[in-house]
Amino acid sequence: MPQSKQPQTRWAWVEIDRGALRKNVRAFKRLLRGRERMCCVVKADAYGHGAAECCQIMQQAGADMFAVATVLEGVKLREAGITLPILVLAEPPLGAIPALLEHNIMPTVYTVEFALAYGECAVQAGTVGRYHLAVETGMNRIGVPCTEAVEFRRGIDFHRGLACDGVFTHFATADDPDGWDYQLQRKRFDEAVRAMRDAGLDCGTVHCDNTPATIFDPASHYDMVRVGIGLYGLMPCESARGRIELEPVMSVRARVTRATQPAMGEGVGYGFTYRVPRTTVQICTLPIGYADGLARVLSNRMEVLYRGQRVRQVGNICMDQCMVAIQSTPGHPVPEAEYGDIMTIVGRDGGAEITMDEMAALRGTINYEVACNFGMRLEKVYL
Ligand SMILES: *Cc1c(COP(=O)(O)O)cnc(C)c1O
Repeated sequence: MPQSKQPQTRWAWVEIDRGALRKNVRAFKRLLRGRERMCCVVKADAYGHGAAECCQIMQQAGADMFAVATVLEGVKLREAGITLPILVLAEPPLGAIPALLEHNIMPTVYTVEFALAYGECAVQAGTVGRYHLAVETGMNRIGVPCTEAVEFRRGIDFHRGLACDGVFTHFATADDPDGWDYQLQRKRFDEAVRAMRDAGLDCGTVHCDNTPATIFDPASHYDMVRVGIGLYGLMPCESARGRIELEPVMSVRARVTRATQPAMGEGVGYGFTYRVPRTTVQICTLPIGYADGLARVLSNRMEVLYRGQRVRQVGNICMDQCMVAIQSTPGHPVPEAEYGDIMTIVGRDGGAEITMDEMAALRGTINYEVACNFGMRLEKVYL
C-alpha cells in the first residue's frame, strides 16, 4: 500500500476498501433485482467504517435511503452533503425535534406525545413532519404493539403536521428464518400492515428485513430492505455463507514502533503476564490498544500477521499499544522485524488472513462489535 495513503501522525490505522464496499452494495442490489428499494444502515459511523465516506459510495452504488441510530449521526451526514432520505431507527427525545426538522431527518415514532409534538413543530416551521412507525412484533425493544397500530395511527394522523412515510418492524431471529419465532414476527407484522391498509391508512414504505432476512427470505422484502452488516462484507451468521458473495471492507494495520530482544525471563507489559522464554525471542511494539478497539480480553490470545505469517500477541494489551513476539521455531522461520515494518491485525497479508469473525470468536462477541470498536479512534484510510 502506498506510503502516501498512510496517516502521517500515527502508525496504526484502519483501511477501508472502497471497491469492496461498492461490490457489496451491488451484490445486495442484484439480490433485490430492482424491485425493492435499499436502505443502507450506517449507524455507529457505518459500523466503524466512517459514515460520511461510506454514504457517498453507497449513494453512487444505488442506495435509496440511509438509516442511523441517533439524530446527531443524521446531522453529520447532512453536514457532509448527503441528500438521500435519512431515518433515525428509534424515537428520539422531544429535544431533538428542532434538529430533525432543520436537517430533514425522519424519526421513528411510537409514542403519541412525541408524534404530536413533532407535528406541532412541523406546522410552526411551515412543513410536514414525515415519520416511520415502528411496530413491536416480538423483539420487545421498541414500537407500538402490533395489535394497536391502527388505533395509534388514528390518534396522531389527524394532525396536519404529520405524514407517515413508512412502517417497519425488526426481527430478533432472522438468522433462523424457518423458526417459529421469526415466522410469528412476520405474521404479526403482516397483520398490522393489513389492518392499517384496511382502515384506509397509508403505510408509505413498508420494511422489515435486516441483512439475514434480506438474504434468506425474499418474500419478506416488502418495499425496502435495511441492510447493515452485509454491506461491510461481514456475514450476519454462519448459515449466510454461500448465499451471497461479499468482500470484507475493513482491514486494521500498524507499524512496529520498537523491536528488541529482551533477556530470557524479562516480563512484557502490565503485570508481566508474559515472560520471554528464550533470548532469541523478538518483542515488537505496535501503537494500537484497547482504546482503539483491540479488546483487552484478547491479551495473550490473539495473533497478528507479519510478512504473511501468524505471530503471537503477548502481554496485556495496553490502552494505546500492544506487543507481539516473533519466535522462529524449527521448520517455521519467521524473519526478524524492524522498526517501521507493517503488521496486520485484521485483514489479508500474503496468503494469510485474520478475519473479524476470528477476532469475534476469541472475544466471545459478534463481528458487528469488533468492527464498531475499531472505528473508535483509529484514523481511516480510504483505498
Ligand atoms: C442495525 C439495524 C439494522 C441492520 O441490521 P444488520 O443485521 O446489520 O443488517 C436494521 N434495522 C434496524 C432497526 C437495526 O437496528
